Order: sequence, then structure tokens, then C-alpha cells
Amino acid sequence: MKIIDSPIQIQPELVALKRQGKKIGLIPTMGNLHKGHTSLFEIARKHCDILVGSIFVNPMQFGANEDLDKYPRTLQDDIEKLEAINVDYLFTPTEKIIYPQGTQINTSVEVNRLTKRLCGESRPTHFKGVSTVVNILFNILQPDVVVFGKKDYQQYLVLCAMVKDLFLPIEVLGGEIVREKNGLAMSSRNKFLTSSEKEKASELRKILLFYAEKIKQGDRRYGAIRLEAIETLNSKSFNIDYFEICNIYDLERANIRDKKILIAVAAWMGKPRLLDNIEVNLSS
Ligand code: AMP
Repeated sequence: MKIIDSPIQIQPELVALKRQGKKIGLIPTMGNLHKGHTSLFEIARKHCDILVGSIFVNPMQFGANEDLDKYPRTLQDDIEKLEAINVDYLFTPTEKIIYPQGTQINTSVEVNRLTKRLCGESRPTHFKGVSTVVNILFNILQPDVVVFGKKDYQQYLVLCAMVKDLFLPIEVLGGEIVREKNGLAMSSRNKFLTSSEKEKASELRKILLFYAEKIKQGDRRYGAIRLEAIETLNSKSFNIDYFEICNIYDLERANIRDKKILIAVAAWMGKPRLLDNIEVNLSS
């Protein structure tokens, strides 16, 4: 695996490969890699010739009181994991390279509407940071295919919208959520859970499954379900950011005619804020 931190070095190499007809697949990450990340590389591998990963803890997507300083950085370990699955290139830029003038950058990319709901309500500048850095990475690395995880379903939709609206010649794929044995969605932030919190956190998945089943059985009292779920989560030591039953395409609150629904939750268990969701298909 070639590890490169300089855009002016990696870009011509990837452009030369594209000229030879090779398809470039990119997985952008913030590192501290786990099986959720590596699953995305396995998906991309089937759609490209050259597998590229990036590791960059993006300051622009963290709010002032969030965990930027504490975000786990484990580059050596990450390199070993990517080498073990035969990734071809790893791009590891510094903050100075991506934001030479600091994160108060002149040019940014902002996706509207979709970014105002769910995580956007409690993290109002987060998605602007995500779409801007992903655009920068796209411009440097020129991918043909990218894969984002559906654990961050809203992020996946936001980036699909960005690619479509800006006519970027990139295919975007979504990767299914990879979970721990107890059902907890894998996340770099799970290491901040104590073992008893980890056990309690597994309830998040169970609650999603319970309400998904209820809805599939015909219960359409979405408002009431939402309130009931919030009460249940409260009683199980979660500190809730949101629990929402949404239309899967625009993340607006679902109505009884919607056929594809996303139940999405964000809640703190101890220190980390956990995200999870479940897709519910009511078309059949
Ligand atoms: P991050 O390093 O947290 O920015 O995540 C990089 C990519 O990995 C994003 O597209 C995430 O949605 C995805 N990802 C993180 N955790 C998981 C997981 N448990 N299952 C699937 N994808 C994931």
C-alpha cells in the first residue's frame, strides 16, 4: 500500500491510472478503523480496480464543544488493517494541507434541507464540514466510485444529494451497518463506553427492531410510537438527542402513505453519542 499525504503527489498517480482505464474506488474515513470501515472497502473492491482509502479527522465537521481533541487516532494500527485487505493507496493529509488558511475556509459546500433535520438540529455546522471535506477529497483523489456507510444514513443521503446536484461523475454506494455481537453498531466512539454501558447500549438496536416490527404489523401511530420509544430509551439510561420515524428519501417525518421508512436514533450513553437506524419497507 502506498501511503501519501501530499495532494500533488497522489493526484497525478491516480489520474495516470484513470487514463489507463482503471476505475478508482474511494473510502473516506476518520481512521480508528473497524470492521464497519473495512466492509466498505470490500464493497468498493467489486466496483473498481484501484482501492483508495483516506484518513483525515476533519476539524470542520466538529462543533465547538465536541470531541475533536479526544477523537481516537490510531494510524499505525489502521495502516496494518488496510494492508491486510490489500488497499492500494492511503491518503493521510494533515490539517494544514486540507485547510491551509484554517477551517474558516473561503469556499464551502452546503447541502440544504436534508441537513436541517435529525443530526443537523443538534449539530448545525456538521454537514457543511462533511460535504466540504468530501468534495475536497473527491477533487484530489478523483474517484469513480465511493462507498459510505448507512450507519450515518443522513450523511449518506446528504452526500448522494451533493453528488447529484453538482453533477459529479461519481457513483455513490451505501454499505450496510456492521454490528458488534450484541447488536451495537460499530463505531470509533464505542471505545469510550465502559463494559456495562456497552451492554446497555445494545438496547438501541433492540428498540429499533421492536418498533420496526410494530410498524410492519400495521401500527401507523408514528407520533405515539416516537414518544413511547423516547420514554423507553430514557428509562434505559440513554440521554436522547432524537428518535424519529422518517420518510427514507427526505428524512421528513413519515406519514401513513410513505412506503419506505427510516427509524433513526441518536442518543448518548455515558460519554459517546451513538447513532443507529433501521430501514422499514412497507411496499409489499
Ligand atoms: P468515520 O471514520 O466514522 O467518518 O466513518 C467513515 C465511513 O465508515 C462512513 O461512511 C461511515 O458511515 C462508515 N461506517 C462507520 N461505522 C460503520 C458501521 N458500523 N457500519 C458501516 N459503515 C460504517
